[in-house]
Amino acid sequence: MKLGKVTLLSAGPGALDLLTLRAARVLSEADVLLVDDLANPEIVTLAPQARVIAVGKRGGCRSTPQAFIERLMCRMARRGAHVVRVKGGDALMFGRAGEEMSALRRAGVPVDIVNGVSAAFAAAAGLGMSLTHRDHCAGVTFVTAHRQDGTAPNWTALAATGTTLAIYMGVQRVEGLCATLLAHLDAATPAAAVQWAGTAHERRLLTTLGCLAQDVRAGDFASPAILLVGGAVGEAALASSVDTIAIAA
Ligand code: SAH
Repeated sequence: MKLGKVTLLSAGPGALDLLTLRAARVLSEADVLLVDDLANPEIVTLAPQARVIAVGKRGGCRSTPQAFIERLMCRMARRGAHVVRVKGGDALMFGRAGEEMSALRRAGVPVDIVNGVSAAFAAAAGLGMSLTHRDHCAGVTFVTAHRQDGTAPNWTALAATGTTLAIYMGVQRVEGLCATLLAHLDAATPAAAVQWAGTAHERRLLTTLGCLAQDVRAGDFASPAILLVGGAVGEAALASSVDTIAIAA
C-alpha cells in the first residue's frame, strides 16, 4: 500500500483570507483534516472532500491527548492518507510541531510544513506597528508565559534584550509577568494586548507596562490574546488606523 503523508498546515490567526495560497491548495488535496480549536472552523469549507476530526488543545480545557493525535496521524498516513494537521497561527510557533515531527519521523511517515501568519504578526498589523521598529529595538522575541514544566521564562533576561516582547499564552498570568518585568523595565514602557487578532472579533488595548495587568482585567481580555511590550509598541498610538478600546493616561 502506498505510504501517505502528514502536512502540518498553518491556519493563520483566523480570517480565511490570511491563509496562504499553498495552504488552500493543500487543503483541497487533503484526505483527512485534524483541526486544532484555535483554527477558524470555516477552514473545512476549503477541504469539502476531507474527513474532519476535531482535536482541540486549548489551555485549561479538556483536550485530545497529544500521544493519541500522534498515533492517529501515523496510522492514517501509513494507510495511504494525506493527513493535514491544521494548527492556528503558524504551525511552528508554540504548536507542538516539534513533538509531532519527531513522532512522525520516528514512525517513518513523511511530514511537511505550510507556513502561516502567527498571532504576533496579526496583532502588530491590527495595531499598525512594526514589531522591529529600529528606532526602538534590536528585534522581537517570541516567548510563552507558560512553559511545559510549569516554570516561568527568565523575564529578567528577556527584559534586558532590548527587543519587543511578543508574549503568547500570557493573559492568565499577566499580573505575575508584569510585576517581574516592572522590576527591570520602566512603567511607562508601551504595552498592548490583542484578543482574537486577525479575526472579525479582534479587540485591542494600548497601554503601558505599569497599567497592562489592570487594563487587561478591566477590559476582560481572555484567551486567545497576545501581549506586546516594548518601545516599538508606542508607535501604534501614532497610527491613525488604531482602534484602541482603552488608552492609559
Ligand atoms: N501557533 C500559534 C500559537 C499557538 S499558542 C500562532 O502562531 O499564533 C496559543 C496562543 O497563541 C494563545 O494563548 C495566544 O496567546 C496566541 N494566539 C493564537 N491565536 C491568537 C489570536 N487570533 N489572537 C491573539 N492571540 C492569539
